[in-house]
Amino acid sequence: MGPRPNLLTRRAAGVASTTLALLLSTAAVGVVPAASAFSAVPDACAEPADGHANARIKPGAAAKHDPNELTAQQVREREADLTAAQRERANFRTGAGATALATVTVPVVVHVIQENSTRAGGNIPDSMITSQISVLNQAYAGATGGAATAFTFRLDSINRVTNPSWYPIVYGSSAERSMKSSLRVGGKNTLNIYLGELSDDLLGWATFPQRKLSSADGVVALSESLPGGTATNYNQGDTGTHEVGHWLNLYHTFQGGCGGSGDSVSDTPAEASPAYQCPTGRDTCSATGLDPITNFMDYTYDSCMYQFTPGQASRMITAWNAYRAA
Ligand SMILES: [Zn+2]
Repeated sequence: MGPRPNLLTRRAAGVASTTLALLLSTAAVGVVPAASAFSAVPDACAEPADGHANARIKPGAAAKHDPNELTAQQVREREADLTAAQRERANFRTGAGATALATVTVPVVVHVIQENSTRAGGNIPDSMITSQISVLNQAYAGATGGAATAFTFRLDSINRVTNPSWYPIVYGSSAERSMKSSLRVGGKNTLNIYLGELSDDLLGWATFPQRKLSSADGVVALSESLPGGTATNYNQGDTGTHEVGHWLNLYHTFQGGCGGSGDSVSDTPAEASPAYQCPTGRDTCSATGLDPITNFMDYTYDSCMYQFTPGQASRMITAWNAYRAA
């Protein structure tokens, strides 16, 4: 029982169609520049929910910066903090005799924020949530075509909350802070996911790990981005995969553009800007490698993204041991 076979079929189909698209674009020279057509689309995390009702971002509208998009200075500070956190943990371990974890089961608590009892008011079925957990487990196991990571996810509880003052969930608002401080449970290792209608045409956002646990810690995702949701092109659960990637310390693949340390992962080719839809063959930087449009940390359609790299897997478990391990 359950969605696994369907999801595997879906993933296999996604990989196959990507390969087919690659072959077609190789044959038809000139198909490639899809990239430039979409690079001007305002940023939103993870992608603009253009299939979602009244959520299309109009051309020329004020750019909406992804809450998880960082400046070069912020990246430098985060990387320095990671080094400091690792040192702190190493000292702690020397005394306690603990060892770094190689595999991790992440307890997950899902908060479904509803305006009322209707589907339009946020009342999605439990089946969408269990499917989302399956999508996470397949993505992080490498079962969809990428590297296997250390992580598996265990759904501990679903918490349904009807509160019109928290709906939609408005990024950065006092209502968001109040919602999270009222609802968040568990320690640094517990993944709290908040689902609902979201502000600013966003599909989701997430907090990066911090040494001191904040009540803001967690992932927010558009409820209709879950498998079976109504967010066309973004309804196979990869907003969840992407946001959990941030929660585990991954940057976007286009972080830093073509120069510098990029996303601080060596095996994701540099990318000048976010990729949208599925622009096969896109290559925006002179450095080696096509743009990583099939990576979960880009902005492409769910059907286009299916992998993490070994470097990302390594970065995530390193961050876990520095920040989130008990
Ligand atoms: Zn993002």
